[in-house]
Amino acid sequence: MQQKIAVLPGDGIGPEIVAEALKVLDCLRQDHGLAVETEPGLIGGAAYDETGTPLPDATLALAKAADAVLLGAVGGPKWEPLDYAVRPERGLLGLRSELQLFANLRPALLYPQLVAASTLKPEVVSGLDILIVRELTGGMYFGTPRGVRLNDQGLREGYNTLVYTEAEIRRIGHVAFTTAQKRQKRLCSVDKANVLECTELWREVMIEVSRDYPDVSLSHMYVDNAAMQLVRAPKQFDVLVTENMFGDILSDCAAMLTGSIGMLPSASLDQHGKGMYEPIHGSAPDIAGKGIANPIATILSLAMLLRYSLGQTAAADRIERAVSAALDQGYRTADIYSDGTRKTGTAAMGDAIVAALRLDRSA
Ligand code: NAD
Repeated sequence: MQQKIAVLPGDGIGPEIVAEALKVLDCLRQDHGLAVETEPGLIGGAAYDETGTPLPDATLALAKAADAVLLGAVGGPKWEPLDYAVRPERGLLGLRSELQLFANLRPALLYPQLVAASTLKPEVVSGLDILIVRELTGGMYFGTPRGVRLNDQGLREGYNTLVYTEAEIRRIGHVAFTTAQKRQKRLCSVDKANVLECTELWREVMIEVSRDYPDVSLSHMYVDNAAMQLVRAPKQFDVLVTENMFGDILSDCAAMLTGSIGMLPSASLDQHGKGMYEPIHGSAPDIAGKGIANPIATILSLAMLLRYSLGQTAAADRIERAVSAALDQGYRTADIYSDGTRKTGTAAMGDAIVAALRLDRSA
């Protein structure tokens, strides 16, 4: 049976960058015989405008029935005055929790062609290849009780709950260890076990899980130190695993090591390897509609989708080679541009990658 990808462009630059990923997919279908079909759906602000909810039932049904989901980005100033329950971001969080996508894989890989685009010194970042495994459906972002209340002195107080069961920790632990097994077999678990009981349990359970993976070396680091080490000496890491909020922050930090948030893909997986794939950046309302957004994070998200959920490793490799070839040829969107390279818009970058894909076939 033909595999199906649910395609959810979303808001802001979402439709522009997803269009380029679809060009790449079309090329793989036409030139390389990839048998994959796509079906579009509404999410985020675009869905709210049309249906009154950021996650329509039809989109949820489409995402559940598909083999994988490719998402652009959601959100923007237009929808900020809305109630939290119908904000675009709720559509995304709802989809993650409905599909039980508990494991977020965020590679931070620095292409040698882009060493100059990083804000860090070349010797600190060149050759960088790390992977952050972030727990995605637990922790503070979902814990209850939560809210803002009046305390005994009549002052407003905000409160959230950091909570993890050992089963939740164990399940993300297994993903992190098996991922590390496929790389350099070094896993660093990030916590704040000196202050937070919840992450003390995190550390204990990670140690328990490690007994199933004697070939992977496990280390532990407090989150504040991990943030410092990521900018001081990031190449010491292979795979990092951490809870939801720490992972949110550390992965954006790791993203900047590579020069631009516009380069980095991500995968969010369920227990069975089904997943949603999206660039790690948001909808970039400041540049939406200008045709200058970098589509590479989305195109690399498609490569991850083909590799992790559809088992199409050769197609994934082809995309990654084509991105590298386009960079070799000097094509750069504004966010990664430097003197001596060719400044390129969103569509032209997509075209350059498709052209490289076509050449790869004839090679
Ligand atoms: P953002 O990631 O959208 O943008 C941050 C900066 O990076 C901006 O200057 C933007 O122009 C730039 N940028 C982002 N992607 C780029 C690309 N592909 N090419 C070139 N430059 C790029 O973050 P933000 O500004 O904090 O948020 C904007 C909106 O996106 C908000 O509504 C936020 O809630 C939403 N958001 C959505 C997601 C998601 O859909 N997964 C993630 C983060 C933020």
